Amino acid sequence: MNLDKLETILAGQPAYRAEQARQAVLKSLAENWDEVVGLPKDLRQILEKEIPLKIDAKIFASPGADSLKALVTFGDGLRVESVLMRHDNRNTVCVSSQVGCPMACSFCATGKLGFKRNLTAGEILEQVVLFGRALKRENQRVTNIVFMGMGEPFLNYDNVMAAIRTMNDQKGLNIGARHISISTCGIVEGIEKLIDEPLQVNLAISLHAPSDLLRSKLMPANVKHPIDDIMKAVLRYVKNTNRRVMFEYIMIDNVNDSDECARELAELIKSRLSLKLAFVNLIRYNPTGIYGASSPERVKAFKTVLMEAGVETTERYRFGREIKAACGQLAGDKNQ
Ligand code: SF4
Repeated sequence: MNLDKLETILAGQPAYRAEQARQAVLKSLAENWDEVVGLPKDLRQILEKEIPLKIDAKIFASPGADSLKALVTFGDGLRVESVLMRHDNRNTVCVSSQVGCPMACSFCATGKLGFKRNLTAGEILEQVVLFGRALKRENQRVTNIVFMGMGEPFLNYDNVMAAIRTMNDQKGLNIGARHISISTCGIVEGIEKLIDEPLQVNLAISLHAPSDLLRSKLMPANVKHPIDDIMKAVLRYVKNTNRRVMFEYIMIDNVNDSDECARELAELIKSRLSLKLAFVNLIRYNPTGIYGASSPERVKAFKTVLMEAGVETTERYRFGREIKAACGQLAGDKNQ
């Protein structure tokens, strides 16, 4: 499927026809043009030839089916991963924004793949449409989107925002802006731009360490965007939008999971932000090589230190270790 071509192909059509075709793909989630019987046969034939709706993807289910992971292949043969996570009546799609990632975080499988290219807005949407179709068969829909897959979304800002506008469109996927989250490793320019966006999507910061010394070891991007700069940008975001910010924190055994790290993290947040507008989400690490995961007891102790300091702390539901849910593990597997 090449959604980016849709507007070009429809350019010569009357406005209502173009809208009908758009809604067929994004609202009715048609899987081939033949089923869009409201469109004239000759237009359906053109669309079938120019923009076939088949999505080239392999889907892997976890044994409990609480998550589905997809390996999506685009026209140039490059692949990304996307995940559907199902819990608490929510169907959340975790989308990729780039093929690979240039940020090279040392704990991340995607970082090891290097950077290939940005995804187009259509390629980002394709990942959502794929799971939207699967859910439709169960009379369900995609309710939430998180940009936490492969890539740094703020390095592909314009395409990410174009995709979000289409996701939010009531005549299409109709996903509320408040149900869409962008996770960044701290690209300050991206945070600044987001402040001025009319669509108020959620912001998450992949922090993963409370000090520059440790963070720069885990995340080379910290050298260009140190914690102080990130926190200043987050403060401006919070003041301007009055929206809560989530700090993501991957729990890595004996690296960033000590009580001292927890105390430093609590102090960092309390000294910069109102506690009403910030919370920490602890993520169980899915080992990808050089690091191990913190034990459940360590995660609990870390959480206790944060909570006792007054910092609201959640733990991300653990999805699909069996299907290599850590981003980048499937795309880097040549056997898939
Ligand atoms: S954690 Fe995110 S920003 Fe870092 S390398 Fe992986 S995909 Fe890129």
